[in-house]
Amino acid sequence: MHIQDLAAQYDVVIVGGGMVGTTFALNLAQQIDDCNYSILVVEAVDSKNLDQQPSFDSRSTALSFGSRQIFEDMNLWSTIKQVVEPIIEIQISDRGHFGGTTLSNVEQGVEALGYVIENRELGNVLREAMQASAGVNLLVPASITQMKPRQSGMELTVAGSERSTKLSAKLVVLADGGRSSIRETLGIGQSKTDYGQHAIITNVAFERPHSGVAFERFTESGPLAILPLSDFQQSNRGALVWTVSESSREELLRCDEETFRSVLTQRFGERLGRISQIGKRVAYPLSLILAKEQVRPGLVLLGNVAHTLHPVAGQGLNLSLRDSAALVRHLVRAKQQQIAPGEMKILQAYQESQIQDQLESALFTDQTVKLFSNNHLHLLALRKLGLLSLELLPSLRGRFARSAMGLKT
Ligand SMILES: Cc1cc2nc3c(=O)[nH]c(=O)nc-3n(C[C@H](O)[C@H](O)[C@H](O)COP(=O)(O)OP(=O)(O)OC[C@H]3O[C@@H](n4cnc5c(N)ncnc54)[C@H](O)[C@@H]3O)c2cc1C
Repeated sequence: MHIQDLAAQYDVVIVGGGMVGTTFALNLAQQIDDCNYSILVVEAVDSKNLDQQPSFDSRSTALSFGSRQIFEDMNLWSTIKQVVEPIIEIQISDRGHFGGTTLSNVEQGVEALGYVIENRELGNVLREAMQASAGVNLLVPASITQMKPRQSGMELTVAGSERSTKLSAKLVVLADGGRSSIRETLGIGQSKTDYGQHAIITNVAFERPHSGVAFERFTESGPLAILPLSDFQQSNRGALVWTVSESSREELLRCDEETFRSVLTQRFGERLGRISQIGKRVAYPLSLILAKEQVRPGLVLLGNVAHTLHPVAGQGLNLSLRDSAALVRHLVRAKQQQIAPGEMKILQAYQESQIQDQLESALFTDQTVKLFSNNHLHLLALRKLGLLSLELLPSLRGRFARSAMGLKT
């Protein structure tokens, strides 16, 4: 739609059409299923430049089994399924130390432990679904530049490429990512733990097929994951997520391909044979960020703006998809009871339903980072004990696998 076609008021305005904002909008429109309920998504980056959009860049995401269920409920899984690679086994190992364990789909009694999707592919599916959805209005490229609370809801300033306008919303869902300027102008604080680490991501082609195995390898410089990717031009591809220190980041981004290949081979070994190709390398700073407030009258924070997690345990998007699905359930109930979507009692009920899941996911991720990025002797011993216990105790392995899959224990 064009900026001049905007209505003066919407029931729900979603700021940010990234992975979280789009999924939430589509889910809400489908569950509410009422053409009088108006939903608007405002996204800053043009869909023609999907590459430049923070959500849909060259990364890959491990979707949990729980996220698959959410996409199934949204009738999107049959499309997504065509572009994912199932994880049937996770091999966890500790470089240079004895101990390791394997989690398998057979042992957990599921078709797959998770599914790897390239963010760009997920972006394509979600954007197409948005275009086909009668219940969601998408304004792109346009930015929300200001937001002010009003008696019932929020007043927003929308800036398009040529003009700006104002509109109001009964509820604003702020899904504008971890570097939200709107959160700052609203004076919503955050607690931040900087890990002093970066994730280097790239796609790597190996000599041998991965056969659906994901590798999580803990090295002295930080955890390294290789996720199985679907084949492309007959190459056996894996998505590398390598956690490194600030100083290694510079070296690993700048070095030539041969040096990178040799350092990576040293860390990962030759489990999949020789590395034949390495894609473009990109680095992301890593921290744990939790917003100090997630709801205010007429406002809810969703996705990375509410909580940004270290990617080591692949929990960030999966958690946000569970939040989104919960928020949809609360808004559907509010509508049935003829309560306005921005009412505080609805938003508080949503937050109470999710807070435990959010804290557990943040804690699980934070402990995994600390335990596996550290070579202090006592942590090393704890790590070996942890891996050994996982190996020896199927019930513990089951609980760990279910956490990693985004399913409740
Ligand atoms: C290296 C790495 C690997 C990861 N791997 C996994 C994984 O395997 N599994 C997992 O579950 N999670 C993973 N994550 C986490 C996951 O990527 C995030 O949870 C997810 O990207 C959050 O999406 P979002 O929509 O909240 O924010 P973003 O992706 O940042 O999207 C925000 C959107 O808002 C738009 N925007 C910003 N400001 C405005 C404005 N003022 N007006 C309009 N639009 C605006 C932006 O253009 C953008 O499209 C990983 C993260 C990293 C860094």
